[in-house]
Amino acid sequence: MNDIKQSTYHIITFGCQMNKSDTERVAGMLDALGAEPALGQDDADIIIFMTCCVREAADERLYGQVASLKNSKALIAVGGCIGQRDANELAKKMPHIGVVFGTHNIVNLPALISKAMQFKKPVVEVVSNEDAAKLEQPALGLDTPTTREHDWHAWLPIMTGCNNFCSYCVVPYVRGRERSMAFEEVLSDAKRLVSEGVREITLLGQNVNSYGRDLYGEPRFAELLYALEASGIERLRFTTSHPKDLSRDTIQAFAEIAAVMPALHLPLQSGSDAILKTMNRRYTAQQYRDLVTQIQSACEASGKGTVAFSTDVIVGYPGETAEDFEQTLALVKAVGFAQVFTFIYSRREGTPAASLVDDTPREVIQERFDRLVDQVQKSAWTFNQQFLDKEVLVLFEGASKRDNQILAGRAPRNQTVHAPLPEGRPIADFAGKLLPVRINEAKTWYLRGTLL
Ligand code: SAH
Ligand code: SF4
Repeated sequence: MNDIKQSTYHIITFGCQMNKSDTERVAGMLDALGAEPALGQDDADIIIFMTCCVREAADERLYGQVASLKNSKALIAVGGCIGQRDANELAKKMPHIGVVFGTHNIVNLPALISKAMQFKKPVVEVVSNEDAAKLEQPALGLDTPTTREHDWHAWLPIMTGCNNFCSYCVVPYVRGRERSMAFEEVLSDAKRLVSEGVREITLLGQNVNSYGRDLYGEPRFAELLYALEASGIERLRFTTSHPKDLSRDTIQAFAEIAAVMPALHLPLQSGSDAILKTMNRRYTAQQYRDLVTQIQSACEASGKGTVAFSTDVIVGYPGETAEDFEQTLALVKAVGFAQVFTFIYSRREGTPAASLVDDTPREVIQERFDRLVDQVQKSAWTFNQQFLDKEVLVLFEGASKRDNQILAGRAPRNQTVHAPLPEGRPIADFAGKLLPVRINEAKTWYLRGTLL
């Protein structure tokens, strides 16, 4: 293949929502140039990896998957966080890679692919965090064509990078410092999305609570939420919210804006003050609890009702004692999370935590992890019970993965909801529709009900 125009492509996405969002833009740019999605990896002329290096497992999986394509005739492009971190090394280690790109230049990917096709040699282009910081705006490509997974849902990155330097985390090193998109630009993007039929927008940033600080000297996240409400979007979500920066104004906006869904991802990481301190999280377990209470009370006062809190927890951080872990478990239980993403600590070269003594035996960590998962399942099940016999408004996505006679969608509190497809009606009639469902079964990971 020597022209993008007649090529087929396949994108493999690892990691966070930012990568999912970048993937939709890469697909959009390639589609606009006349390329087409391949049926699968084996049929593709171009295979693109959007990579993640937040934990070792994703890192190893990427290297393994790319290595296994050694004899593939496809042009292989590797970008995102591992591209940014490993750049030339990646191309040297695996000479069958055609293009390496980073986190700041996805908008250049089509040009890099064309160059690699034309000159038949590897092209490596990674923009350093320092050079990216000199650009007037982060090169997110918000003005490039986007091929969205669902017509009615859009990711909207409002900022890139991170200034928090949690001790375990590579994100600030591979995504650079915090940069916000201009307020007016976010608003006009949201308005355009609404006019294109988007019903739900998820705002993205490593710490959306500090949105605007770099541009305006102070965060304007709450203000942004009110402005977005006026754009007419039906459902608004955002991630991620750092507990230390969740202001009273933002809590108020969260509580009183009807379009902002009553689900909040608030990463905890640990319930032990000692561990939170060495993680550089800059809040205590008690402050976290108080925050949850404040948000819940504000939502009760505004009539929004129960908030579905979700969180991230790391088990086995260097030096985590049995007592530290018990505190995490107790806090997870006390909050009653709707969902918890559980991770075993993964040592990342170049982060401050990488130099800490890490001598907790593997079995001990695994045992803590299993106990946490057990609690997480109990909490999720308990959370879902309150919706039995209740009516919830579901944004339908299509058929459930296992059964094409069952519709699947999302409730305001982010639960997956299943409902039987009414007889004689095609799934397509329901995809992208907001419809009420009466819940008659509440499981750990989903609700089931009937369409009203
Ligand atoms: N900015 C977001 C997302 C960061 S990465 C936030 O602050 O929440 C997503 C999650 O991955 C983190 O919340 C953390 O729980 C986990 N994570 C990050 N680095 C990790 C590491 N080295 N080992 C294990 N989990 C990690
Ligand atoms: Fe990583 Fe912490 Fe920044 Fe999240 S806030 S991206 S965990 S450094």
